[in-house]
Amino acid sequence: MSRGGWSTFSGGKASLGETPGKVLAAPLAEGKTVRERTEEIEEMTLSPFAVLSSKSKGRLREEKPCPVRTCFQRDRDRIIHSKAFRRLKDKTQVFLAPEADHFRTRLTHTLEVSQIARTIARGLRLNEDLTEAIALGHDLGHTPFGHAGEEVLDRVHPGGFRHNEQSLRVVDVLERGGLNLTWEVRDGILNHPWRCRPSTLEGRCVQVSDRIAYVNHDIDDAIRAGIIKNEDLPEEALEILGRTHAERINTLVTDVIENSFLKEEVGFTEDCLRALNLLRNFLFERVYIGSIAKREEDKAKGIVEALYSHYCSHPEEILMESNKGDEPSRRACDYVAGMTDRYAITQYKKVFVPRSWIFEEP
Ligand code: MG
Repeated sequence: MSRGGWSTFSGGKASLGETPGKVLAAPLAEGKTVRERTEEIEEMTLSPFAVLSSKSKGRLREEKPCPVRTCFQRDRDRIIHSKAFRRLKDKTQVFLAPEADHFRTRLTHTLEVSQIARTIARGLRLNEDLTEAIALGHDLGHTPFGHAGEEVLDRVHPGGFRHNEQSLRVVDVLERGGLNLTWEVRDGILNHPWRCRPSTLEGRCVQVSDRIAYVNHDIDDAIRAGIIKNEDLPEEALEILGRTHAERINTLVTDVIENSFLKEEVGFTEDCLRALNLLRNFLFERVYIGSIAKREEDKAKGIVEALYSHYCSHPEEILMESNKGDEPSRRACDYVAGMTDRYAITQYKKVFVPRSWIFEEP
């Protein structure tokens, strides 16, 4: 039986039916690997401002190229398979260790950034694989408890602490002794904060997408938490960007693509940037500073500071191999920064809260 002409079901077997056109598969050129073929397609189809994977500046340690994947596809896979990436699921975005299921975590934030950045990169004919790799790796260095944890380590650790530098340290040193990523991915990860300047337009795509993602999803989460209401949002911003979460993201993504197509820059029009900044300032006033979302922040800071000083004086308790040769303070900083919210709370209890005496009958 035909269902709307698209799918059919007969004799216990479902099929998608006839498609109107055929996919034209270009035959692999003789003697070429799949990767080389993909590199050729990039050369034929990408913008003159895109980074071609065949022209990468390379890795810290030379490696034999993969026969199937380009260097940037390979970097993306290494990041996805890393332990640091899996830990993002238990790290705070804005709401500390939320028990409700629908609040963003650092992992879902990362996935939203990646999705937005890929859409922009594809719209601009930039290298989508490079963009995706940068996006998936950009926040790997975040501490437990979000910016509260970062503030503490920045204050107590000699030389300070910045999550973007730590993200680079994760991929260069801490994860399995270093993932040996390409120069372009490392540059995009290090330079993703707004104050920095990534060297590639793919890095710029991640930078604008990070801002589009967090401003919008933090509004969504704050509304979900009952801290703000939709009608509290600044009217001037809503008039430009739209009244719903989906409309606002769509306006911003379309704005970046239309404003940046075949230009050597990726950015918003002035109107959209102003509207986005209005929303961001609103979040600082109503959500990021002093709201109930931040009520537990002082306790979280206390945990991070206590753990850091404990591991500085007890480096033998640090369960990490890749930074063994470093100073105890560096090792303590890496260890605490790598913890999830949950693990930090568990370790804090183990180290600082006395265990009750359990008497067992002989
Ligand atoms: Mg981010």
